[in-house]
Amino acid sequence: MARYIGPDCKLCRRERQKLYLKGTRCEGPKCAIEKRPYPPGEHGRGRIRESEYLLQLREKQKARRIYGVLEKQFRNYYQEATRQSGLTGENLLVLLERRLDNVVYRGGLARSRDEARQLVRHRHVLVSGRTVNIPSYRVREGDVVSIKDKSREIVPVLGALEVIGTKAIPAWLSTDQSKLQITVLGLPERDQIDVPVQEQLIVELYSK
Ligand code: SF4
Repeated sequence: MARYIGPDCKLCRRERQKLYLKGTRCEGPKCAIEKRPYPPGEHGRGRIRESEYLLQLREKQKARRIYGVLEKQFRNYYQEATRQSGLTGENLLVLLERRLDNVVYRGGLARSRDEARQLVRHRHVLVSGRTVNIPSYRVREGDVVSIKDKSREIVPVLGALEVIGTKAIPAWLSTDQSKLQITVLGLPERDQIDVPVQEQLIVELYSK
């Protein structure tokens, strides 16, 4: 599946807020938002005419960028969310949260979703004992996500373990640090999904 390969910090600057796409760098003084908190490009510091459409579009782009999903796949998630019962916006966020790369990141076994995605793609991750190399794989209640024994010492995993103590693991996941294992205790509720996104605006945008 294709993915965005341009500079991450540009995406945060475009949204004028930290999206935490680069792991520990995002907490330090090198964060681009700290140095240049305005959109990139020649007109980045110019006045922007706010419109309802622009707000909705920015919210959708922000969600896409946080989860590292391209437009077509994001729209597919939306379509699936509309077919489920309940609030479409919340369904959409739950579907995104259940992605395997997101679970590896949320559970603290990677410093960023990009790193988590690479761990999955490079076959370092098991789901309930089986290798899964699809970042969009959707975890279910009871799944156990773990790092392969032979991958315990690789740099991204060691780096993640250094900072795992500073991360708040959401209540729907339980991480066993010694076993490098995350158990999915249940599906996430909206208040357990810590992303700065107003999902209702995305629903409004797509329902036009
Ligand atoms: Fe965004 Fe992190 Fe880059 Fe800061 S360092 S601009 S939070 S990706």
